[in-house]
Amino acid sequence: MDKKEILSKFSADPERYYMVKLFDDEKFERKSCATCNRFYWTIDENRLNCPDHSDDTYSFIGNPPTKKRFDYTQAWKEVESFFVKNGHTSVNRYPVVCRWRDDLYFTIASIVDFQRVMGNKVVFEFPANPLVVPQTCLRFKDLENVGVTGRHFSSFCMIGQHSIPNSHGYWKDECVDLDYRLMTEQFGIDKKEVVFVEDVWEGGGSFGSSLEFFVKGLELGNAVFTEFQGDLSNYKTLDQQIIDMGAGLERFAWLTMGTPTAYDCCFGPITNNLLQQIGIDTDDELLATYFTKIAKNMEQFDNLSDVRKNAIKTAGLSDEQINKIITPLEGIYLIVDHIRTLIFAISDGALPSNVGGGYNLRMMLRRIISTMDRLSLKFDVNEIVDVQIDYLKNTYPELEKTREDIKMVIGIESGRYENSKLRMEKIVSKLNQKPVVDDLIRLYESDGVTPDYLKEMNVISDIPSTFYSKLSELHQSKKQKEQDQIPLEGLAETKLLYYGDDPREFDAKVIKSFDKYVVLDKTSFYARGGGQEPDHGTIEKLEVVDVTKHGNIIVHELKNGILKEGSTVSCIINSKRRDSITKNHTSTHILNSSSRNVLGSWVWQHSAFKEEDHARLDITHHSALTDDEIGNIEKLANSIVEKNMSVTIDNFDRGTAEQKYGFKIYQGGIVPVKSVRIVSIEDFDVEACGGTHVKKTGEIELIKITRTKRIQDGVVRIEFVSGKTALDYTKLHDANLMKKSAELKEKIELREKRRGQKQELREKFPILVEGIIKSEIGTSTVYEIIVDMTESGKPNFCSTTSDQYDEFFHISLGEKLIESDPWMVYCGVFEDGDKVRAIIYSGEQAGKEKKASDIAKTVSEILGGAGGGNQRFAQGGGKDKSKKNDAIEKAKTMVLEV
Ligand SMILES: [Zn+2]
Ligand SMILES: [Zn+2]
Repeated sequence: MDKKEILSKFSADPERYYMVKLFDDEKFERKSCATCNRFYWTIDENRLNCPDHSDDTYSFIGNPPTKKRFDYTQAWKEVESFFVKNGHTSVNRYPVVCRWRDDLYFTIASIVDFQRVMGNKVVFEFPANPLVVPQTCLRFKDLENVGVTGRHFSSFCMIGQHSIPNSHGYWKDECVDLDYRLMTEQFGIDKKEVVFVEDVWEGGGSFGSSLEFFVKGLELGNAVFTEFQGDLSNYKTLDQQIIDMGAGLERFAWLTMGTPTAYDCCFGPITNNLLQQIGIDTDDELLATYFTKIAKNMEQFDNLSDVRKNAIKTAGLSDEQINKIITPLEGIYLIVDHIRTLIFAISDGALPSNVGGGYNLRMMLRRIISTMDRLSLKFDVNEIVDVQIDYLKNTYPELEKTREDIKMVIGIESGRYENSKLRMEKIVSKLNQKPVVDDLIRLYESDGVTPDYLKEMNVISDIPSTFYSKLSELHQSKKQKEQDQIPLEGLAETKLLYYGDDPREFDAKVIKSFDKYVVLDKTSFYARGGGQEPDHGTIEKLEVVDVTKHGNIIVHELKNGILKEGSTVSCIINSKRRDSITKNHTSTHILNSSSRNVLGSWVWQHSAFKEEDHARLDITHHSALTDDEIGNIEKLANSIVEKNMSVTIDNFDRGTAEQKYGFKIYQGGIVPVKSVRIVSIEDFDVEACGGTHVKKTGEIELIKITRTKRIQDGVVRIEFVSGKTALDYTKLHDANLMKKSAELKEKIELREKRRGQKQELREKFPILVEGIIKSEIGTSTVYEIIVDMTESGKPNFCSTTSDQYDEFFHISLGEKLIESDPWMVYCGVFEDGDKVRAIIYSGEQAGKEKKASDIAKTVSEILGGAGGGNQRFAQGGGKDKSKKNDAIEKAKTMVLEV
C-alpha cells in the first residue's frame, strides 16, 4: 500500500481519522500548508505553513521555548513522572539486541519490545497497560549524518507510550491529550507552539492514522494509532488496536536547552571534556547560526555534502573556522555517539564481527578510530566509556555491571583494527581509480577497508550518502526456513508423552502412514529440535531412524516396512541413546553458563548440537579460547555436576518469564509459542528450552571438553562429551597420556645417557689422542680404535668402525689427531640411521699425497654411495652396512702403500 494514498484518503475525512477531543476543547484549527498542502492542527491563527516550511524552523537553537532546562537524564525524569502520575507503568528498557524477533538484529523502536512471533504472525504482549518505556533504539541507516546534522544518532532513546484501548488503556483522545499536556504542562511549552501534522503509518499488514507533533519546527514525537487491517478498498478494524506513540528523548532535551546541536546536551559532560582537551573555542553564536542553517538545509538538499557546503556559505564561515572548529566538532560528536551505541550493544551481549548485526558495531568502532587518526585526536577511549556510563547509569543502572566487559571488547577490537592497517594500506595503494559506492562496499565486505579509512587516507573526500543504507540492506536479517512438504493436513496434533511421564515403552494408534513415514496419536519419541537429535527405537519391531516435528505433529521415519492406519502399535525407545543425549543437553546448558561466568557477559549460545556420543556448543566470544580458559570452564561445569543441583522445569506465560528472568532465557533462539518451558539448574542457569533434561546434575557424572575452535568471527565452538562417554574418553586419554609420557621419559633418558657418554669422552680425549699418537693404545678393545703408526716421514693411519661413536666424536677426534700429528690420516665409519657414513681427516703432511677427498670418494663407492671434500677434510657414505670393514681396509691400503 502506498502511504500517500492512505494519507489522502484519511485526510479527506478528518472528522473520522484525525479529530480528537483535545482539538475540540482547545479550539484547534485545521489548516493546509501554504507550501506543501499538508494538513496540520494549530491554535495559532497566524500560522500559514506546516512545521517543515515555517520560518521558525529550529529557532529554538539559542532561544529555547521553555523556562526550565533539562538535559538527557533530567528530560527522562520529567517524562516518566508525567506519565506515571497519569496512570502509566514505567517499564525498564528492553535489550538493544533483539533476541525475541528472528527478523531483527537490533531493537529499532519501542513497539518492538512488545512484539512476539507466533508462527508467521506478530502478536503484541504488553507487561502493563498503559505503559511508558525509555527504549534505546539502534539505527544504522543514516550513519553518515551522525555528528554532522546536529540531530542524527546511531542510537537514541525512544520514549514509548503504549496503550491498548480497554478497561485499563485508552485510545486516540486520551493519547493526544496526554502528549499535549506533557509538552505544555510538564515542559512548559507555549500552547501556540505545538503543531500536530496529519500522517499515516502502515506495516506488517496493518495501518492507521498518526499525528506527528512539532515545536519550533522540531518533531518531538509521533502518535500512531494502529487501527486497521486489509487494504484501502477493503479494511476492517483490528481486534487488537494499539497506541504506539514514539518520541525522541534527545529532542525534548535539545528543545529545552537550545544548544547548537542535540549532541551538546545528550552525552553528559563528555562532549565538553573532549572539546576542552583539544582546545576548541565554541563560539556559541557562530555554532548556533551554522547548525540552524544545517537544519533548514536538510529539507532543501538531498545530498549531505550539499547541505554542509551551503550552510558554510550562508553562515559565512572561513576555511579556518571550518578546519579548526566545525570539522573537529563533527569528529567529536561522531566519536561520542558511536561509543554510546557500542556501550549499549556490547552491554546487551553483541560483539563486533563481520557477520550478522556485529558488522555494524565493527564499522562504528573503525569509524571512531579512523576519525581520531584523521583529525589527530588523542583520546582515551576507556575514559570516554567511563564518563558516559557514569552519566547514563542515572537512567540505565544496568550498564554499571558490564563496564569492564565493554572496555575489554572495545580494546580487543581496536587492536585487531590496528593490526590490519598494514594490509589495508597495501590494498589502498593498489587502487588505481576513485572508488564508487559498489567498490566501497566490496572493499569493506571483503577486506574490511572502511570508507572512513579511505577518507583518512585522502582517497575519497566524502562518503557517498547511499553507502550505509546499501550496506545495511545487504546485512538485513534473512532467516526464514523452508518447511518440507509432508501431507499432514487435517491431522490432530500429536500428544507429547516425553513432556509428561516420558514412558520408554508405550502403545499408540497409527493415524497416518505414507511412504516410510508414520504419525501416531501420541508419542514419546523426541523429535529433532533445539539442536537435540531425535530418539531412535522401534515401532512394532520396525526400526525408527528419524523423528521430526511439523507444527504440532510428530512424524516418525521407519527403516523398513509400513504400518497399517488405525492399528495399535507397540513402541520402544532406545533408552541408552536417549539418556546419553539428555545428559549432553543438560551439559550444554551448564557449559553455556560456565563459559559466561569464566569469559564474560558477551557470551551467548550461538547454536548447539547434541548427539548420543558427542555434542557441541557454539558460543559468542571474541577470541580463541586459551588452555586456561578451557580448563576453568570445564572445572566450573564439573563443580555444578558434583553439587548435584536440581534441574526443574516450569511452564510460564512468555511475558511473565521474560519479566521474571530477563531475555537471557532465549539462548536457543526465539520461542514461537505463548507458553514457554523454563529449564532451571537452580540459580546457575535458566533457559527457555524444549529439550529433554536430567533431574539432577549429578547424573551427568562428568563433562569433558574434547576440542575448541574459533569457527567464525565472534563464534567459538566447544566440542564435548558427558556421562559414560566422558568417563571412557578420560580413561583412554589417561592411557594415551601415560603411554606418551613413558615414551617421552625413555627419550629423555636416552638423551641423558648419550650426553653422559659424550662428556666422558670429552674428558678422556686428550689422553686418548696422546695414546694414539704415542702408539700406546695400539689396538684397543675398549675404544675399538685401530692405529697403524709407520716410520717418521710416512703417513700414519687411524680408524674405527665402532657404533658407539657419533658424528661429533669422529669430527673431534679427527681434528685433534691431525693437529697433533701432521702425518696422520683418520677414517671413521659409522652407522647413522639406515645409512653408513664416513668421515676422513688428513694431516698437513699426509694430505699432500693422501687427500681426504680421494679417500672419501673411494670409501663411499664401496659403501654404495658418494663422497667428497678437500685435502684436509672429506665425508661421504652409502647404504651398504655389510661393507664397513671392506671400506676401512681399502682406506688403509690407500694410506699406507707407497
Ligand atoms: Zn509544508
Ligand atoms: Zn536446551
